[in-house]
Amino acid sequence: MTLIDGNHIAQQIREELTEQVATIKEKGGKIPHLAAILVGNNPASEAYVRNKVKDCEKIGYGSTLVRFDTDVTEEELLAKVEEINQNDDIDGLIVQLPLPDHIAPEKVTFTIRPEKDVDGFHPTNVGRMAKGLPAYIAATPFGILQLLERYKIETAGKHCVVIGRSDIVGTPMSILMSRKAYPGNCTVTICHSRTKNMPDMTRQADILIAAIGQAGFVTADMVKEGAVVIDVGINRVDDASRKSGYALVGDVNFEEVAEKCSFITPVPGGVGPMTRAGLLYNTMLAAKKKIYEF
Ligand code: NDP
Repeated sequence: MTLIDGNHIAQQIREELTEQVATIKEKGGKIPHLAAILVGNNPASEAYVRNKVKDCEKIGYGSTLVRFDTDVTEEELLAKVEEINQNDDIDGLIVQLPLPDHIAPEKVTFTIRPEKDVDGFHPTNVGRMAKGLPAYIAATPFGILQLLERYKIETAGKHCVVIGRSDIVGTPMSILMSRKAYPGNCTVTICHSRTKNMPDMTRQADILIAAIGQAGFVTADMVKEGAVVIDVGINRVDDASRKSGYALVGDVNFEEVAEKCSFITPVPGGVGPMTRAGLLYNTMLAAKKKIYEF
């Protein structure tokens, strides 16, 4: 069994991007710049945004953090998005979700110019991805593709089973794994809460991608011998032995499943760090104006 080291691959990507920043500087080009909008003070959102900004600074990107109180109106927020859309110095824009109930997240996502939508959530980017055109691929699916590619995992002709059909992970992952490309060319089954006989489905998987948000959901009896298992889940479980009082675990029961796998991602240290690297990668693409050449 090979443990897929997301920390290591994410570090590789950051180093590659840092080199690219140095080359851009040498040539007097424009340094990539990411803007993040944060509404309110949800501790998890604060931590995510703080890390995103810190990641940018570490590799030499510019970054702007715009903060609003929870009572910001939808109009005010959309006006800020429009202002950033027009600002040529800012290449990529993300609005941290979730937003307060009085703001429609779709309205905000749809207002971000697709050329700056480095989260890859705008329908134009989702549609381009589905058609196999250059697009910003959402950071988590991007990260998973990178792990498969950098570990040289064969995907053509394999049966990939994705559990979960969210807009940000399961659905894009199923599209990407079935596209005519590498990684891809899989026969894909997508499972969700209405799927019957889940273990029968998952046992067919050469590549199993779990993105459901249920700690330890995938057990050894659900996995074929020699499968590649990608665990996207991040779940808190009580753990009195830790200072925080909790531990982070995936959607896969790692201890028992690992023994049966050819490759597996741990939690933490698998897909999570790759998601952070994905945003940096997309921001570089945005600065280089690579996606919308066509
Ligand atoms: P969502 O809650 O948006 O979607 C969960 C999906 O799983 C839904 O499609 C749901 O089905 C399905 N599901 C839930 N419970 C079951 C079940 N018991 N049996 C079958 N299907 C089930 O979650 P996300 O996609 O946003 O996230 C999934 C997990 O991945 C979470 O733990 C999240 O924290 C983690 N995550 C990790 C990231 C990383 O960087 N590593 C990034 C993003 C997410 P239905 O559609 O029928 O409701």
